[in-house]
Amino acid sequence: MTAVLKLGVAGLSRALAAREISSVELTQGLLAGIDAHSDLGAFLCTDADHALAEARAADAAIAAGSAGPLTGVPIAHKDIFVTDHARSGLPSTAGSKMLAGYASPFDATVVARLGAGEAGPAGRGPGAGMVTLGKLNCDEFAMGSSNENSAFGPVLNPWDRQRVPGGSSGGSAAAVAARLVPAATGTDTGGSIRQPASFTGITGIKPTYGVCSRYGMIAFASSLDQAGPMARSAEDCAMLLSAMSGFDARDATSAERPPQDYAALMRKARAGASAAKPLQGLRVGLPKEFFPAALAADVNGAVRAALAELEKLGATLVDVSLPRTELSIPVYYIIAPAEASSNLGRFDGVKFGHRAAQYADLMEMYKKSRAEGFGPEVKRRIMIGTYVLSHGYYDAYYLQAQKLRRMIADDFQACFSAGAQGCDLIAGPVAPTVAWKLGEQGDDPLQAYLADIFTLPASLAGLPGMSVPAGLGAHGMPVGLQLIGNYFDEGTLLHTAHALQQATDFHLRTPQGY
Ligand code: GLN
Repeated sequence: MTAVLKLGVAGLSRALAAREISSVELTQGLLAGIDAHSDLGAFLCTDADHALAEARAADAAIAAGSAGPLTGVPIAHKDIFVTDHARSGLPSTAGSKMLAGYASPFDATVVARLGAGEAGPAGRGPGAGMVTLGKLNCDEFAMGSSNENSAFGPVLNPWDRQRVPGGSSGGSAAAVAARLVPAATGTDTGGSIRQPASFTGITGIKPTYGVCSRYGMIAFASSLDQAGPMARSAEDCAMLLSAMSGFDARDATSAERPPQDYAALMRKARAGASAAKPLQGLRVGLPKEFFPAALAADVNGAVRAALAELEKLGATLVDVSLPRTELSIPVYYIIAPAEASSNLGRFDGVKFGHRAAQYADLMEMYKKSRAEGFGPEVKRRIMIGTYVLSHGYYDAYYLQAQKLRRMIADDFQACFSAGAQGCDLIAGPVAPTVAWKLGEQGDDPLQAYLADIFTLPASLAGLPGMSVPAGLGAHGMPVGLQLIGNYFDEGTLLHTAHALQQATDFHLRTPQGY
């Protein structure tokens, strides 16, 4: 029984179909594990009654032969997705005191599509039937790289509890790495799926901007925010992404494309490939800017070893350049705060969330509610964003950043275009180091911003990116290999990661004690 509880999504799908375990037993077992490891800080809340009701419905569907591949498989959501409180019993907080206890009247589209109910509002028939166990801790409004910015306390990395799990989807990453749940949702604005996946040795994919609906995802930076799955393997991620993605009329930036079967795309053999060389003909670009002299030797070593595996599987490594990589840091830290300052304007003490207890007039009510409700990193970004959008600075900062954003996207296209380079994928590290210690960055937010250097370019370009476990580095901490694909080419990312995971066991390593 305990071995079954630790299976991933694909394994549990098979175990449920074979009646090796029921969804109710699975839900009970996992909820007990979540309780036992509550000191990790990964979960903000669970609701056993609602979860067990969903599990019973799933077992009935399995018995009736009407189950899909995800029916009855448990999942938990980053607490940046709103969950219908009446349906799930779960509040939606975005890791902020501003929204403590907030009861959403509806489910985010991603939640509805994965979930047990009718995904009616999302306009695509019933949900995939997964059982929602609870909500996962995250940096406040998804701003951060270490999960230390949550108003509800930090998350510990199960590989070393003195270290951070990465952020902002740190709760999702720690929960999956500690085998508390087979899979979780995450969101990635500038790296928040890939970097925590890398820091905790799990697999995560941020799809092309527009693939997953942002409806019901509490907004941070709308032109960058994108949802994606975090799980043990590329196979698990492919199954989840098929269910959670697809056009949604409620999100104006949702891509109008037919539903995709990512598991089929993942398995689709490449022309000229063989069993021994599944990646034959795949051209993988290595940007020299992703391997600077300052890159930690352990990260470089693990990434190079994973790249050597890709070569053994038939891939060709090509040297390329993304010359504006360094500029992605100032560009992102202008555009993201600008959009955040606008998005967070809605939290005024009137429409949503926290309201100050005492105030003399309306203006004081706004000021006190926001001063009390938001944490320091969120305030810092609101101030930066307001500044760069203000009259006289807009042209100098915001407009310049937008121009550079386009040039960063063009640099990727030069690598992908059929000319001399003609890459199918770009590869490199996810982060310059392994997970750092809690509190290590002290009061210097710039340290964390600089560590986003390898994830920001793909975010600014809107390209799909993935973190795949590549072994262990310093202090026995996990290292992730980043794969970046061209627009809507999640299939090649998943295919490559799956081939690597069929040939190696990096993704099967588990932190001790979990
Ligand atoms: N670390 C980045 C930031 O702090 C990215 C966060 C994210 O992707 N949500 O903004």
